[in-house]
Amino acid sequence: MLDEAPGTAQPPGWTELRALVRAQRLVLSAPRSSGADLCLVCHGPPGQGSPLCFQCDLHRQCAGGSLADVVVPVAFAVKGSPHARQLWQYKSGRLPAAARAVPATMLRALLLVFLRDHGPCVWRAGGIRAPNQLAMVPTARGRPGIHPLRALIGPYLTAPWAELAARPGGEQARDLDPDRFAAKVLPDARVLLIDDTWTTGASAQSAAMALRRAGARSVATVVLGRHVGVAQAERAGLGPASTPFRLGSCAVHGHHAAAPDHAAAPTTL
Ligand SMILES: [Zn+2]
Ligand SMILES: [Zn+2]
Repeated sequence: MLDEAPGTAQPPGWTELRALVRAQRLVLSAPRSSGADLCLVCHGPPGQGSPLCFQCDLHRQCAGGSLADVVVPVAFAVKGSPHARQLWQYKSGRLPAAARAVPATMLRALLLVFLRDHGPCVWRAGGIRAPNQLAMVPTARGRPGIHPLRALIGPYLTAPWAELAARPGGEQARDLDPDRFAAKVLPDARVLLIDDTWTTGASAQSAAMALRRAGARSVATVVLGRHVGVAQAERAGLGPASTPFRLGSCAVHGHHAAAPDHAAAPTTL
């Protein structure tokens, strides 16, 4: 599914992408499979006395089996942290293109290297086979054109994209809504659903429901940043020092070796 980017104006190769991840890793914080008690679905801070956070608990009660099979955040996006800032900056229409370029480059590297190293962990944790279809959770404002994150990673991914269209007026919805998005038929598809920021999870889970309604057999969701408030992060003991991001591990890391850190050859998942 992952490939060397084609074209004459070569986007960065794996060695460079990996160097960009190393350059930002010290300011990143991420959930670990063996780490603190976190929501069993989104890996954010859980609710009191519950294995799930309030939102995931609510979603499960409403929609149960039609949600994503697995949700894996690459890192926490603690409010005000460099990662949260980048997730805002890379697609902000209020910033000039030059100010979006560095955050975009960093996020692209982080997502691609994560998918390459830990994609198999994600599929295994969801009990599903490797995906054969990609999808992006539409932006909240329903802006026209290709999603900025898809534009960044598209050249590296070989699987086809499933289009998710927002129902007119439905983009602003904040709750889980099976009709918020619609997809063309995807019989038996195994979808890797990508989102930049998970706040309540309502958008991503509504998108997962739409994909299932379109016939998808499985949906694995990977998000770049699991939003966490500052006080919430402190209460749960989350941060670069206590829960550091590590290239060799992920929220659902199993007992296997991730791709070696020096790997430079293209891979197909
Ligand atoms: Zn949750
Ligand atoms: Zn892993």
